[in-house]
Amino acid sequence: MSRIDGFVGRRDLLKLVGAGGAGLAATAAGGVLWTAQEAISPQAAAAEYQSNPQPVSPEEALKRLVEGNKRFVQQRRQNPNQSIARLQLVAKGQYPFAAMLSCADSRVPSEIVFDQGLGDLFVVRLAGNVVSPTSLGSLEFATAVLGAQLIVVMGHERCGAVAAAVKGDPLPGRIGTFVEDIKPALAKVKGKSGDPVENAVVANVQYQVELLQETSVMLAQLIQEGKLKIVGCRYDLDAGEITIVT
Ligand SMILES: [Zn+2]
Repeated sequence: MSRIDGFVGRRDLLKLVGAGGAGLAATAAGGVLWTAQEAISPQAAAAEYQSNPQPVSPEEALKRLVEGNKRFVQQRRQNPNQSIARLQLVAKGQYPFAAMLSCADSRVPSEIVFDQGLGDLFVVRLAGNVVSPTSLGSLEFATAVLGAQLIVVMGHERCGAVAAAVKGDPLPGRIGTFVEDIKPALAKVKGKSGDPVENAVVANVQYQVELLQETSVMLAQLIQEGKLKIVGCRYDLDAGEITIVT
């Protein structure tokens, strides 16, 4: 299957979408965007996955992230894959080895805290690291099309979005939208001893991981075929360290 700048060629995508499939929009740059969540069948997605020339297994991907975070914590970052040569290589196409659903918090930049570089991570960042139709679609794209075999859902210590959900006060504008997406996670830790926000941070990660597994046919199939793992972790703001929680 051909690719344009790391994306599936438009003709191939049309084939995947098939007759009666959902519409798609071509951008001025020639890229393509899906307008429907399940436009590609899991079978077609799996076939596309095969085109990744050097897939990185879920275990190897997690190992790379854990080691990168260790380097970051110990202040011996290698800043890999940030040369001009790497820039020029990934300009031709991307095969990120991991995808992430992380908080938009300015203190949790994925490439820095995992010591990675250009083309390594496909990162979706939203306040509260919540699963929404758009974040889910991005993660399906990263895995089924670009071939990442690991999704990391990363919450973090003292997350303002989670704290707002715990507090439960009304919020102006659309700030409340992502807070609402966190609230179902709170039921699991209601009445639990300890810091309510910290309990909720972990519960939210676990809840969002479950949502990914349960709401996406594409992700579920990749998991079943052994081509995807979803891992939840918590980031410690003080130490810069990640802990796997699910
Ligand atoms: Zn946050």
